[in-house]
Amino acid sequence: MTNRANGHWKKKHGSQHHIIPSSIGGPDIPENKYSWTKEKHAAYHQLFYNYLPSMAIGIIKIWTDSNGKLKTDLMRPRNVKAWKDAFNGGTPAQVIQFIQKNFLPVEAKFLRGELGGEYEKK
Ligand SMILES: [Zn+2]
Repeated sequence: MTNRANGHWKKKHGSQHHIIPSSIGGPDIPENKYSWTKEKHAAYHQLFYNYLPSMAIGIIKIWTDSNGKLKTDLMRPRNVKAWKDAFNGGTPAQVIQFIQKNFLPVEAKFLRGELGGEYEKK
């Protein structure tokens, strides 16, 4: 599943990440895109599939122990690697902060119907 997903994302989106996935109506506009290397982009989707940013944060919280460390024993080995690849081994708090800063405002606008643009099927 994840290998297919990675291949799919690399092929379909290159390094342009859609913060709100096209598959659920995320528009193809600059505001909805985040530039990543292909490796980081693929790793992010291996971890969080096409979930909304708020769902990714929820998953990170489940993966975080009471000391703020990643519960790597709870994660699949390939997801531990994907975490390193996507976030340079950052702490859960750092990654949540990154998502809150870069992705959550776009999600909030989308959920209010204010993100605009037109859905382009690729
Ligand atoms: Zn993406």
